[in-house]
Amino acid sequence: MIRRLLIVNRGEIALRIVRAAQESGLVSIVAHSEADTDTLAVQRADEAVCIGPAQAAKSYLNIPAIIEAAKACQADAVHPGYGFLSESADFAQAVKEAGMVFIGPDAEIIARMGDKAMARQTAIEAGVPVVPGSPHAVKGLDDALTVVESVGFPLLIKAAAGGGGRGIRVAEDRDALAKQLPLAQAEAQASFGDGRVYLERFISRARHIEVQVLGDGKRAVHFFERECSLQRRRQKVFEEAPSPALDSATRKALCESAVALAEHVGYVGAGTLEYLFDDATGEFFFIEMNTRIQVEHPVTEMVTGFDLVREMIRLACGQPLRMAQEDIALKGWAIEMRINAEDPDRDFFPSPGKVETLIWPAGPGIRIDSGLYEGYKMPPFYDSLVAKLIVWDEDRESALKRAGRALDEFHLEGFSTTASLHRRLVEDPAVKEGAFDTTFLERWLAEPASNHSNVKEVIDEQ
Ligand code: ADP
Ligand code: ADP
Ligand code: MG
Repeated sequence: MIRRLLIVNRGEIALRIVRAAQESGLVSIVAHSEADTDTLAVQRADEAVCIGPAQAAKSYLNIPAIIEAAKACQADAVHPGYGFLSESADFAQAVKEAGMVFIGPDAEIIARMGDKAMARQTAIEAGVPVVPGSPHAVKGLDDALTVVESVGFPLLIKAAAGGGGRGIRVAEDRDALAKQLPLAQAEAQASFGDGRVYLERFISRARHIEVQVLGDGKRAVHFFERECSLQRRRQKVFEEAPSPALDSATRKALCESAVALAEHVGYVGAGTLEYLFDDATGEFFFIEMNTRIQVEHPVTEMVTGFDLVREMIRLACGQPLRMAQEDIALKGWAIEMRINAEDPDRDFFPSPGKVETLIWPAGPGIRIDSGLYEGYKMPPFYDSLVAKLIVWDEDRESALKRAGRALDEFHLEGFSTTASLHRRLVEDPAVKEGAFDTTFLERWLAEPASNHSNVKEVIDEQ
């Protein structure tokens, strides 16, 4: 049993976890940096503790300072949220050694599945198809060139410890590989403290589809899939559940492969298995596992009715899964739009600032996960995600209409956000059709806006 939960994160996810803690009867304590003393999460939490200066390396990534703060406030559990230390096996281990519960899997599972090169191997063992690539991290160019014989070009050089869309480079040919490989290794070392990289075939027209699972160490269940193909710089921008691309047989095969992989490693907690899906052939390939709660988890909550954060807290405390697979059903359609403090008309230039006026959308099927409030001044040090606007409706078409209605109601003065981009996206004919892959959004952004209107669709059809 735990009583006092320390939340080591910030922004909307810290607030999301405060809410789950309070509903679970736990005392919520937010660990924050000096730049985050006035966040909504800190205000809403039962208690708060400062863990260091604004710079993440000195606060949100500072394991000794966090453990010390956790002990000082007598926490008996720690929730890492997403990003920061959420996939650090060292952090999970340090929490455990300090006698506290880490809300996530054990360090050994994080090391195995949070490391992308190792996770690929584990997927192969579990019989789950992976993108053709190198069996382990590649050392030098000679090593890489042996892999090229089976993988071919173009390929991706990926950091084993990468995440958040960072640490991925494309190599078109041998010369590019020779040039990019040492750069990728140096960058991986500098960004993630781990220089290992591996190679993977670049799949040019694929969809990103991922499966949410929960496991208790003995068995795992899935909560169906999320479609996250609308990306910019390999970062998700707009997600939905379910995927418009899957028929029920493919959905079943995909979700069952995720459960098989989670059970193969005795997975405990909430996790996501990410895949690339080829529309043309119906094939799917595992790319990585995130051993934590994900940014886009609300769409799954909306279509299944479960609270994933509450469940992951229970599971970390050693409780068995409360549900059988048959208890989990899909209902309706949900969409999440990531609202970032960036100006889509100025190449997504970061635009942190002060919230002068704020009116949230409301009404049926609307959920807002955000730490914004009027008067809040956004610090410039962290991720630019400031709100997630999530809508639910009976089907995809009505969910897109509702998303447009919600965006029309949303009003924020003080800085630019990506809400205007979403307003155009939900009207786009290709988006309405669900006809897109991971390259769609960047191509769409490169076109003049006049190409996106319904007028074009009519002309094309004539
Ligand atoms: P999700 O699928 O939950 O969106 P992401 O991989 O996009 O997962 O990461 C979620 C958040 O965590 C993003 O804000 C991202 O910038 C950050 N993040 C994840 N992993 C890393 C990492 N290794 N280094 C830096 N930031 C990361
Ligand atoms: P991260 O840990 O940064 O989330 P991922 O391995 O999940 O890294 O890849 C991020 C995104 O990059 C994917 O969602 C997809 O759009 C693209 N991507 C990854 N691997 C491939 C691949 N082999 N071929 C084509 N695109 C890929
Ligand atoms: Mg990923």
